[in-house]
Amino acid sequence: MWKNIIGQEAVTQKLKSFYTSGKIAHAYLFYGTEGVGKDAAAIEFAKLLNCRNIKNGNEACDECENCRKISSFRSEYFQLICALPAGKSDDSESDPIEKLAASDFDAYLEELQLKSENPYHHINLPNANNIRINSIRNLVSKIYLSAPRGTKKVFLISEADKMRQEAANALLKILEEPPKDSIIILTTSKINSLPKTIIGRCIKMHFEPLTAEQINAKLSQTNDYSKKEIELVSHLSLGSYTRAIELLNIGIEDIRSSVMQYLLSLLKDNYAETILISRNITAKNDKDKTKYFLFLLNIWFRDLLHIKCSAKEDKISNFDIIDRLIKLNNNYPEADIFRIITELEEAEKLISQNVQLTLILVNLSFKLKKLFK
Ligand SMILES: [Zn+2]
Repeated sequence: MWKNIIGQEAVTQKLKSFYTSGKIAHAYLFYGTEGVGKDAAAIEFAKLLNCRNIKNGNEACDECENCRKISSFRSEYFQLICALPAGKSDDSESDPIEKLAASDFDAYLEELQLKSENPYHHINLPNANNIRINSIRNLVSKIYLSAPRGTKKVFLISEADKMRQEAANALLKILEEPPKDSIIILTTSKINSLPKTIIGRCIKMHFEPLTAEQINAKLSQTNDYSKKEIELVSHLSLGSYTRAIELLNIGIEDIRSSVMQYLLSLLKDNYAETILISRNITAKNDKDKTKYFLFLLNIWFRDLLHIKCSAKEDKISNFDIIDRLIKLNNNYPEADIFRIITELEEAEKLISQNVQLTLILVNLSFKLKKLFK
């Protein structure tokens, strides 16, 4: 096991054997649900390929200059490519990062800092909806330059599904004529959104969701959170360490109790309270909080579905309130839970479309009220 990676024994084992056998492919595709360590494993692999002081035959030392530069995104052998907001003059061939507006550039540096401290951090820049063609052109300009002996250049394309057609085509050309000293690692949680031509030219590696125990064990290494909070997010993050951390930062206990109050207010026809809770959640136009509010609502109904189907208790994420879920299921046997889950997913999509957040939650409450009968 690599010490910076949580679980994922199967993939780390494979990556180690690629390294020890010297059979390194030109392109890899790491896929699986978000927040399970795909970027983290890519960073670890880049370090392994360039480390000057390998430990135990197949582990990066984390201490040599190369390892430290890669971890902090300052290495000439490692480049992270991610979705960026549009720059000042996007038509040129130059590095799109240099073209970012000053405030976007500052935000970008801040996000890189967070990712270097925690490789499971999800880089999230305002208005960065796709991987820009210039980012891929910039990669083309660097990838064919030869690397010094004993080093390999690694290009990590994070959330590769965010490439539009033009960027994907440019990347495909490289994959068709792979350079000698470089490898490309694409990561995605939406493999079906990638062109088949690209998938076909990569070695695919699947990353499993983490177990609640694995997330719990990792979070328990620090003293930043209470036992109860850790226990809750380990179960409510659906196997994603990134989500677990984000839920902790938002405040898991508060947001979860808002979800319960919101549902109760719906069931009691207390419209004023539904609006009040919706306003509280969406205050300061907090998209992340709104997103996780919907996420936890979604889990609540998924649990209800499990109860309906008499699934085993270990399938229930809201493990501490199973009695309540059973009672709710008995009281509302006709609730159309599939439709409710679809409505929740639709509402989540609206967040990224810049629809007014309070409106999303209030409209949702009308729909849920009809479906929850
Ligand atoms: Zn090293």
